[in-house]
Amino acid sequence: MSNVTVCARFRPLSSKEIRDLCVRGIDPETFVFQDDKEDEFTFSLDRVFYEDSCQAAVYDFLALPIMIDAVNAINGTIITYGQTGAGKTYSMEGPGLQDCDEHKKGLLPRVVDGMFDQISSSKDIASFTVKLSMVEIYMEKVRDLLDLSKGNIQIKENKTQGILLSGVTEVPVSDSAEALHYLSTGLANRAVGETQMNISSSRSHCAYLFTIQQDSDKDKRTKTGKLILVDLAGSEKADKTGAEGKVLEEAKTINKSLSALGNVINALTSGSPSKANHIPYRDSKLTRILQDALGGNSRMALLCCCSPSTSNASETLSTLRFGMRAK
Ligand code: ADP
Ligand code: MG
Repeated sequence: MSNVTVCARFRPLSSKEIRDLCVRGIDPETFVFQDDKEDEFTFSLDRVFYEDSCQAAVYDFLALPIMIDAVNAINGTIITYGQTGAGKTYSMEGPGLQDCDEHKKGLLPRVVDGMFDQISSSKDIASFTVKLSMVEIYMEKVRDLLDLSKGNIQIKENKTQGILLSGVTEVPVSDSAEALHYLSTGLANRAVGETQMNISSSRSHCAYLFTIQQDSDKDKRTKTGKLILVDLAGSEKADKTGAEGKVLEEAKTINKSLSALGNVINALTSGSPSKANHIPYRDSKLTRILQDALGGNSRMALLCCCSPSTSNASETLSTLRFGMRAK
């Protein structure tokens, strides 16, 4: 592939965590990680965001370039990965999508704002149509968050449009406020559905899908960029909680889809372009949905969200290893 950016972000310590930090920053790309046995590991990634990092810095580094490319019809994916409580949703959404403190705004509202800014500055060369969809993947079923009455959404593939979510609600949006309104509705639906089914949002993946169509006035050509943001289910291992029954089934399913994601990214980044290597997109709904936003001429950013506390060291280490495999 193309272009993969892998970053780590350490959130601030929570009030429940004691002040024993597992991370010692060296520079913006390198840090020393110390596990609970005091073994040290040095990691180098494209960028490390330490505890004091701001949302704008994360956006500027990993999301802005992908958003600009998507407006120019190059597909992109932005993914937050990590154990529950590590800061995935905070990074993706911020404390809320609408009416949120400007400097706390997450990647999603920033991408939406940036996209419409970018579009309005390109108005002279082309006209743009943006559509958005929002789905949740839970236990390998895809739910339409903009219309909960729809059943399991099927994933199809077609020659001209690539991967399609059959029958999914796609709303045309003409500005940032309108997009954020629908995204907020989707999040509210997500919460309602989860209460009804008695599941936790940390056990499902949430994908925000944007299709940006560009009709050029000059050469009468139509180009389309897909941009998908994904707030993944928590990557923590099940055994820590002594899981059984439904919880164990959820954990196994999540684990399967996250390893499928790891395998796909690994196949894309390690395969030589000349060698036709098999990319296992079909191993999970998640990778299937992301297929054309990951493969081909596309860009991806992975934000590995981590707790800074030694009490979470083993999960943090596995999160960082997932990130390293993607490089
Ligand atoms: P996840 O989605 O990975 O389960 P959350 O994003 O919900 O984790 O974060 C867990 C808690 O930590 C939340 O209360 C959130 O507000 C806080 N938090 C996470 N990252 C940050 C950050 N960078 N700055 C401030 N608070 C954060
Ligand atoms: Mg979350």
